[in-house]
Amino acid sequence: MISCLILGSGPAGYTAAIYAGRAGLNPVIYEGIQPGGQLTITTEVENFPGFPEGIDANELMENMRQQALRFGARIESHIAVKADLSASPYKVWFDDGSCEECLTLIIATGATAKYLGLDDEKKYQGIGVSACATCDGFFYRKKTVAVVGGGDTACEEASYLAGLAQKVYLIVRKPFLRASKAMQQRVFDNPKIEVLFETNTLGLYGEEGVEGAHLVHRKGEPDERRYDLPIDGFFLAIGHKPNSDLFTQWLKTYETGYILTKGQTPCTDVPGVFAAGDVADPLYRQAIAAAASGCKAAMEAEKYLAANK
Ligand code: NDP
Repeated sequence: MISCLILGSGPAGYTAAIYAGRAGLNPVIYEGIQPGGQLTITTEVENFPGFPEGIDANELMENMRQQALRFGARIESHIAVKADLSASPYKVWFDDGSCEECLTLIIATGATAKYLGLDDEKKYQGIGVSACATCDGFFYRKKTVAVVGGGDTACEEASYLAGLAQKVYLIVRKPFLRASKAMQQRVFDNPKIEVLFETNTLGLYGEEGVEGAHLVHRKGEPDERRYDLPIDGFFLAIGHKPNSDLFTQWLKTYETGYILTKGQTPCTDVPGVFAAGDVADPLYRQAIAAAASGCKAAMEAEKYLAANK
């Protein structure tokens, strides 16, 4: 029987494992589909405290992994495919057919940024394509970038990038923005941001990184104009999907799928089950915020185990 099972290996999962390991809970962590989590698709991390010169994202995650191992975490590489949280001990099945039973479960399965589905997004990932302006915007100081999306995130990312870049295009597929009025106004009032309504991206081009986007402006099928827009960076802001599907049967979630936790804690409405990191965070989605919630989840797990001996 596992006393503390952790699903996910981003900053939340590894931090939970470090704290749980140091507390003597012998945690077991399943790394999941993307070992190291979302950070591993960016390049350098400059806003994680403790690294004044920045740190390579993969190195940061490998450091966290080694730290979890140092405190006795067992790390497995399978992917969770089914869960039963109806009663303790909780059960989780994995893609190799195995099943683990646990007294506490920390769900740190993250969220996945949505992409348009273009081959070029994969081709230029990390060399011009990003789904996180806060993570990568700094690399585009005084450059020209585009943000795709018309919601609050897109407007926020465009405004953030406008503080760094010399020009920001906001590529919006509809003739209007979906964002809140206040966010829309921020965008319209910013002279560095130009909104391209009724515009879709067909592809990206560039030799060693993104140098531009192939766009199409549509006003009804016959009135279609294709053109190339020179840009240095292409940011996706068309939403995220929390990786919570396995648990929605058992746990309360927001309409958008993010797991609902109690107040400032990572506690779900099932005792002994905690949610940490982006799977429960529709707002901040930052490595440091995820790490903090992983810490809290491990401390809550320790408290729960002590009270339910
Ligand atoms: P949303 O779902 O609100 O918006 C997604 C945007 O992306 C829409 O404009 C949508 O277009 C567009 N989009 C989706 N798919 C495609 C596609 N394939 N091609 C082109 N465009 C596409 O997501 P957000 O991440 O913006 O926001 C999620 C939630 O978080 C919202 O409730 C939002 O209000 C909230 N939030 C609040 C913030 C704040 O208050 N400060 C900051 C950030 C988010 P279309 O409109 O045509 O569907």
